[in-house]
Amino acid sequence: NTPLHELDPEVAAAVDAELLRQQSTLEMIASENFAPLAVMEAQGSVLTNKYAEGYPGRRYYGGCEHVDVTEQIAIDRLKELFGAEYANVQPHSGASANQAALFALAQPGDTILGLDLAHGGHLTHGMRLNFSGKQFDVVAYHVDEETGLVDMAEVEKLAKEHRPKVIIAGWSAYPRQLDFAAFRRIADEVEAYLWVDMAHFAGLVAAGLHPNPVEHADVVTSTTHKTLGGPRGGVILAKKEFAKKLNSSVFPGFQGGPLEHVIAAKAVSFKIAASEDFKERQRRTVEGARILAERLTAADAREAGVNVLSGGTDVHLILVDLRDCELDGRQAEDRLHEVGITVNRNAVPNDPRPPMVTSGLRIGTPALATRGFTAEDFAEVADVIAEALKPSYDAESLKARVQTLADKHPLYPGLSK
Ligand code: PLP
Repeated sequence: NTPLHELDPEVAAAVDAELLRQQSTLEMIASENFAPLAVMEAQGSVLTNKYAEGYPGRRYYGGCEHVDVTEQIAIDRLKELFGAEYANVQPHSGASANQAALFALAQPGDTILGLDLAHGGHLTHGMRLNFSGKQFDVVAYHVDEETGLVDMAEVEKLAKEHRPKVIIAGWSAYPRQLDFAAFRRIADEVEAYLWVDMAHFAGLVAAGLHPNPVEHADVVTSTTHKTLGGPRGGVILAKKEFAKKLNSSVFPGFQGGPLEHVIAAKAVSFKIAASEDFKERQRRTVEGARILAERLTAADAREAGVNVLSGGTDVHLILVDLRDCELDGRQAEDRLHEVGITVNRNAVPNDPRPPMVTSGLRIGTPALATRGFTAEDFAEVADVIAEALKPSYDAESLKARVQTLADKHPLYPGLSK
């Protein structure tokens, strides 16, 4: 039982360096967050040792009496948090949850209708090289080029033309709220199932700051590590009638033994997500994104060729359009990295540049809100970003401003060596 630093100094050094990176830079990748210590404690617990194929009370292994408790707590809390009739907390990731959900609702060869990847959809919503694109007949809807909003008239038209088995509403890069009621109406018209993937905005839903898709969809999937702020993983919610199919699609359909240590960590994060502190954090998350959008639509940013897709945001992220800027997506990502801000480049709809370069940035606020950033701090971050994207940027002074913000909100202080 030698400690990590003695047993494996190489791995320990990389872990320490990653902690320092997270502490000393500003994390603005929209899909990332900082898991609380209690969540990491559960995830690093002895539950990692336990095999528990099956579900609470119906396992294929002995000795499951304690993991039955944690898994049942996770299920009950998740159902309560989102008002769902059914929950499955076993998917190892968001992509695994989506795979299990899709195969429970449709057969290979069936038609599915989802948001185009290049317009903000996810790989698992029908991308060519993903299981969803390889095994299903994919029809994609898009955002309107003028407004940047999902074109519901196109969704309806494509649904009537192709009569998909499943309509997917959800996104990885979209700054607005979807109209779930309209998706439901269209799904009913063509007798399709409605699956909502709320991976990105689940935390906002839990806090009551975003419409709840559970009220409209047949099946809802999510990750637990984005706005929800828990351990890396996936979950499925649904109406009761889909319970049997979904359970058997997850296990034994696609997975073997569940990760009971991660499930316990999910349970802890669901408890946190029901708290007033969590709601307050989600409010700062959305407010921070609005402040970013406002700052990056100001005259000086526009002069530098920076635009904000859809003109603003309703959620935890903004999409920056650099088609008029001298920087492409990769250069802008590198520029912000240079001053200590981590974001990811992102294709804009109908992007003229290849996916490895792109003409946009996706910038999110969940991780900084978790760190304690206030409206005033987000205004300063927004100003640093706007300055960094100008041709005449001063890297040294911007780095110093980033450092001041990072020092103001220490991250995991107890973990520093
Ligand atoms: N669904 C959406 C909408 C996502 O944005 C993502 C991840 O970015 C996923 C699913 C997949 O989650 P994971 O990376 O855990 O497989």
